[in-house]
Amino acid sequence: MCREAVSIGANTFQFFTRNPRGGAAKDVDPEDAREACRFMEEHGFAKILAHAPYTLNPCAERPEVREFTARTMADDLRRMEYTPGNLYNFHPGSHVGQGVDKGTELITEMLNNILTVDQTTTVLLETMAGKGSEIGSTFGEIRRIIDGVQLSGKLGVCLDTCHVFDGGYDIAGDLDGVLGEFDRVIGIDRLKAIHMNDSKNPMGSRKDRHEKIGEGFIGLGAFEKIVNHPALRTLPFYLETPNELDGYGREIALLRGMAK
Ligand code: FE
Ligand code: FE
Ligand code: ZN
Repeated sequence: MCREAVSIGANTFQFFTRNPRGGAAKDVDPEDAREACRFMEEHGFAKILAHAPYTLNPCAERPEVREFTARTMADDLRRMEYTPGNLYNFHPGSHVGQGVDKGTELITEMLNNILTVDQTTTVLLETMAGKGSEIGSTFGEIRRIIDGVQLSGKLGVCLDTCHVFDGGYDIAGDLDGVLGEFDRVIGIDRLKAIHMNDSKNPMGSRKDRHEKIGEGFIGLGAFEKIVNHPALRTLPFYLETPNELDGYGREIALLRGMAK
């Protein structure tokens, strides 16, 4: 994955820790992991971002699903220590009718069970589009989760541009305003990563359909502001656009070309 990233002009990448639909992960080969760390160091990589499987739901109603989620994430975090000091992103979850209060309680309970003092990985809560009963589509909901976690120093936030736009934050028209609100509600120092996606739908539509950069309702002008914003420009950016490898290469070149 490191070499593939370099081949398209990237200096970081996001990957699934296992099949995105869940299931078992391969055993970590410690020598492989060390080699990857050396390669990334040599090539000046930014932090890499692991993404938890989509099937996990920390605030599911069924206890078996919550237990599976906690077990999987704890296992992922153990594996992440073979490539120390990187990032692990997860979706806070869908409360499926239990309500935001109960959902938030379940998410914080899980994090309190799996985070460890010794881990070097920062766990990121992803901002969500608000589809169905997703928690985390407002900055306030993210803040409440962080507030309930004892080892909150291990937590950060990954801002997904499509999701926040879908959630009603006008990053296309008022990026400064949105980031100002993020800072007031969560604290800008919690922001550790950006998922770069345009949106197939207008602001506030809560649909979560990613579009290629510049081809959706967020638009190229907004992405130019995003890559150059003083609060964002030093953060790692990860593309999740509907593309094959060559398409990602073109988007990386496009975004690099806009950076001043
Ligand atoms: Fe995600
Ligand atoms: Fe995302
Ligand atoms: Zn999405």
